[in-house]
Amino acid sequence: MSIQHHKCLIIGSGPAGYTAAVYASRANLSPVLYTGKEPGGQLMITTDVENYPGYPDGVNGPQMMDDFQKQAARFGTDIRYEMITKVDFSGKPHKVWTESDEEIHADTVIIATGASAKWLGLESEKKFSDNGGVSACAVCDGFFYKGMDVAVVGGGDTAAEEALYLSNLCPTVHMLVRRDEMRASQIMQNRVKNKENIIVHWNSETDEILGDTEVEAMRIVNNKTNEKTEIPIKGFFVAIGHKPNTGIFKEWITLDDVGYIKTAADSTKTNVEGVFACGDAQDSMYRQAVTAAGTGCMSALEAERYLGEVGII
Ligand code: NDP
Repeated sequence: MSIQHHKCLIIGSGPAGYTAAVYASRANLSPVLYTGKEPGGQLMITTDVENYPGYPDGVNGPQMMDDFQKQAARFGTDIRYEMITKVDFSGKPHKVWTESDEEIHADTVIIATGASAKWLGLESEKKFSDNGGVSACAVCDGFFYKGMDVAVVGGGDTAAEEALYLSNLCPTVHMLVRRDEMRASQIMQNRVKNKENIIVHWNSETDEILGDTEVEAMRIVNNKTNEKTEIPIKGFFVAIGHKPNTGIFKEWITLDDVGYIKTAADSTKTNVEGVFACGDAQDSMYRQAVTAAGTGCMSALEAERYLGEVGII
C-alpha cells in the first residue's frame, strides 16, 4: 500500500478540530481530518448549548457538531471516520497510523483530541446523563436547574468552581467530598466555605441517584460511619476531573502531570516543530466549545505560517 502524504492532518472532530479544518481548507492546505471513535466529541452528549455565540435560540450539541462538520466539508476537508492509534514524531515528515494500520505522512499535525469527563460509574448516573438530570458541566447545563437544589461531586478546583457557579442559580448546592479535606486550592476552598448556600458533606460518597423518569434525590453514604442519608435534589453534577485524550502522544509531546499537552505561551505550538495542539487536549482551564474553536483557528493559522516558513507552500 502506498503511503499517503498530506500537508495538514487534523486529529479530532470537536469544535477545535473542525474549526482548524475550516481555516486550513480555506487556506488551501487540503486538510485531512480523522474524527476518532466519538465523532463530534463531548458536545455529542450535551443537550442544549445556549452559550455558543451565533445561536440566539440555543442549539442541541449533536446539531451544532453537524453544522461544524458541514462547514468543514463545504470547503473541502477530507473527513475520515477513523481513529489514529499511533504516531511517530521523531523526524520529518510526521508519521501517524490509523486503526486499520494505514501509515500516513504529514508536514503538519493538529492535535484536537479533546478530553473526556470522568464518571463515577453508577448505573443511575448513566441513565440520567443520557436523559437529563446528571451532567459533567455546570456552565453548560446549570441554567436548567435554576431555582432547584442540586449536588456536585468532587473536591477539586473544578468541583469548587461548579459549586460556586451553581450557588448563584440554585437555593442549595450539596457538595460531596470523599475525604475530610478538599484537593482544591485554598482560595477556592475559602470561596466555597464563605457561600452560605453550599453545604459540604465530608467523607461522603454517592450510593445512588434516585428517581423514576427524572432525578428526585440522591442517597449518600458517609464512608467513616456507613450512615446513609437521602437528600432531595433535581440535578447531579459530576466534577471528579477530566482526562485529556493524549495517551498516544506522550512519547513525543510534552504533557503536564495530568496529561494535558503543553503549548508555548500565546500559541498552540507543541515542543515538536510542525505539531500543534488545540481545544481541551491542551486546555485544563476554560474547556468551552468557543475557546476550543478559538484555539483550533490558531492552530490552523500557525500551521499555515509554519508551512510557509519551511517552504512547503
Ligand atoms: P482534580 O483531579 O484536581 O480533583 C478531582 C476531585 O474529584 C478530587 O477531590 C478527588 O478526590 C475527587 N474524586 C476523584 N474521583 C472520585 C470518585 N470516584 N468519587 C468521588 N470523588 C472523586 O480534578 P479537577 O478537574 O478539579 O482539576 C484538574 C486540574 O485543573 C487541577 O490542576 C486544577 O487545579 C485545575 N483547575 C483549575 C481551575 C482554576 O484555577 N480556576 C479550575 C478548574 C480546574 P481526592 O482528592 O480524594 O482524590
